[in-house]
Amino acid sequence: MVAIHDIKAARERVAGVIVRTPVLEDPCGSGLLFKAEHLQRTGSFKLRGATNRVMRAQAEGAEHVATGSSGNHGQAVACIAHRLGMRATIVVPRDASPAKVRGIRSYGAAVEFCGLTSDERLARAAEIARARGAVFVPPYDDEDVIAGQGTVGLEILEQVPDVRVVYVPVGGGGLISGTATALKESRPSVRVIGVEPELANDTYLSRQRGEVVSIGPTTTIADGLRTSHPGELTWPVVQRYVDDIVLVSEDEIRAACRYLLRQAKQVVEPSGAVSVAAAMRTGGRVLAVVSGGNVDLAPEDLVPFPTPH
Ligand SMILES: *Cc1c(COP(=O)(O)O)cnc(C)c1O
Repeated sequence: MVAIHDIKAARERVAGVIVRTPVLEDPCGSGLLFKAEHLQRTGSFKLRGATNRVMRAQAEGAEHVATGSSGNHGQAVACIAHRLGMRATIVVPRDASPAKVRGIRSYGAAVEFCGLTSDERLARAAEIARARGAVFVPPYDDEDVIAGQGTVGLEILEQVPDVRVVYVPVGGGGLISGTATALKESRPSVRVIGVEPELANDTYLSRQRGEVVSIGPTTTIADGLRTSHPGELTWPVVQRYVDDIVLVSEDEIRAACRYLLRQAKQVVEPSGAVSVAAAMRTGGRVLAVVSGGNVDLAPEDLVPFPTPH
């Protein structure tokens, strides 16, 4: 299991690449604090874990990396591979957002489309890695990835030393298992609460049953959280360190995105806003990890007022 010393080592390794993102106070006076990973390089926290893993691959002699991702992990792997002078092949779902695909291609990576579920594209990426001699970089079920994501937790402790409650979006569980490890192994009294969409409640159901449960394909607007089950490595960490998993509706996710955009002036994607949706129920001085900001804005969204005639 990843321990806090692994996360501290990851932090040293990724220091020159990742941004120490700010903690923003809600300007509307709700008391909410936002750990602003939508302001991370590549627009999501995924760069932390990807950098930690790809740097190890390069140190071990790899020249080519491959992964399967709904977008943000793919973009992160493409970015760090480009920076390190390595090749990258990214398998994305057939319905991946154009902004995310453009982001991946802008780093010079090859994009392949496959299926709709994370299992399909991960299997395809692993196959590509075997066939072409690349190193497969999992999006969450990997110790280096988890340790990299955990650097979010180390920064939170420094930036908000008196933090008491932290809400974290949950997909495959890499972000929350790393972050919870950093928080709980430093300060066990911090409450760590995972947040999933009602439509992608695999970790919530797994907690209820006490064992890993898989769900079918889902259509939640939070496309980064459409995983079908918690990871093999992330699940025991969730069981050990996460205090609770809560669910938010699609309407609550949209409302949180609107609030962040209109009131807080932050561009946040639905997956990144589920934590804020949950935190808004209670309010007060609680911290929400805002995990990403890669959202497609349609031109009509950018027109602030009706045009005069
Ligand atoms: C990947 C992702 C998540 C979920 O992270 P996991 O490590 O899979 O739990 C949350 N938010 C955004 C924006 C993501 O890209």
